[in-house]
Amino acid sequence: MHRILEDERIAAHESELGRERIKRAAEEVIGRARLCGDEGEYDAIVAAVRNRLDDLRVKAPFPVINATGVILHTNLGRAPLSSDAAAAIEQLAGRYSNLEYDVATGERGSRNAEIGEALRAATGAEDALVVNNCAAAVLLVLDTLAKGREVIVARNQLVEIGGGFRVPDVLERSGAKLVEVGTTNRVYIEDFERALSPQTGLLLRTHASNYKIEGFTHEPSTRDLTALGQRAGVPVVEDLGSGALCDLAEYGAAHERTVQEAIGDGMTLVTFSGDKLLGGPQAGIVAGRAYLVARLRNNPLLRALRVGKLTLAALGATLRCHRDRISRERLPLYRMLAATLDGLRERAKAYINEVPGAAACESDAYVGGGALPQARIPSIAIAIPSEKPQALAAALRTGDPAIVARIESGRVLLDLRTVAPEEDRIVISSLIVKGVFSIEPG
Ligand SMILES: *Cc1c(COP(=O)(O)O)cnc(C)c1O
Repeated sequence: MHRILEDERIAAHESELGRERIKRAAEEVIGRARLCGDEGEYDAIVAAVRNRLDDLRVKAPFPVINATGVILHTNLGRAPLSSDAAAAIEQLAGRYSNLEYDVATGERGSRNAEIGEALRAATGAEDALVVNNCAAAVLLVLDTLAKGREVIVARNQLVEIGGGFRVPDVLERSGAKLVEVGTTNRVYIEDFERALSPQTGLLLRTHASNYKIEGFTHEPSTRDLTALGQRAGVPVVEDLGSGALCDLAEYGAAHERTVQEAIGDGMTLVTFSGDKLLGGPQAGIVAGRAYLVARLRNNPLLRALRVGKLTLAALGATLRCHRDRISRERLPLYRMLAATLDGLRERAKAYINEVPGAAACESDAYVGGGALPQARIPSIAIAIPSEKPQALAAALRTGDPAIVARIESGRVLLDLRTVAPEEDRIVISSLIVKGVFSIEPG
């Protein structure tokens, strides 16, 4: 075994795949060879291990344990699905479905019919449809309503959301002309009013998800904006991004504008993600006035942006969880938000008892996902003092399963709010093993 791991043909993969995974692959290959009574050639074993490593490489993405405390971590796949959503996917995955089939008439049906109904009920909107992500939702809206026309946006909302999604660029790509109004810190409804022209396609309000302008600021109220749109006969579109369906203040976080509030304020259309505060699969939702959703549905671009049956199954199950607070905690996101400090401290005890040097400390968890920049949530972390915190964190990341932790003041911190209680045992045993590794010299 040692010889295989040190073999340069194998060791070359260590930085990419991690020693742990390579070791397991080697154990598997050697075990199988023993079972067949065919331990034979060393080179054949090495070749088999290399094949196994190739398999591992194409199987990405793989599960990781999120101990960062960032609940909607975009790099770690945002919202974990509820077991309801996972079951809905499993139920549908290996079978045919009525995806675009109306069982009553025996004819072609609409892919969005059932989910549209569920979204209407959840948001209070007249109609809704689902596309691949929120960026696609914004693109579809702009392409349908504003191609070759003008879109009026407040200057303080010309934001980059992250991952290269910049409002001005998306506008340009959709063939709309951006009309900026106001100044960086102060924007008035009169600025919008003066910018209206026969060329105006829509008024756009975006969620300044990831930054905040403070001090001498002014913004028109959303009601003033929708009233202006109504007087002018121009749609007012709000890109909400995070798509909360309930008041986050109930969970001790800052209030985040909800989809229902935006619809209630008279927004003609709103766009939001499926995998942020909705706690569901990657998707983008457009909800709002039926006559405009109908126009979106007729846009040929929708064909390229539509979602598959597995996404619809997961989204439907997720929406069912939003019926009331108790059902909502079926969603891992809301379970994590609802976890009490006492509950987290209780879980911390097992770590402190079993992991040498481990201590519990106060920590700040975040909702993340580009939303709620100020939404810091008090949390509890396990702190592991280490001579080489970077090496310990790297060993945890490349272990199996991979564990992603934070480093703060020379300690490795594992925030328990984003670690599922079912994962505690695995994390504890990894910490025991890696902790020993990290204090070894070299
Ligand atoms: C996150 C976000 C988006 C992009 O959403 P995706 O689902 O990742 O495409 C767009 N607009 C706002 C305001 C966002 O917060």
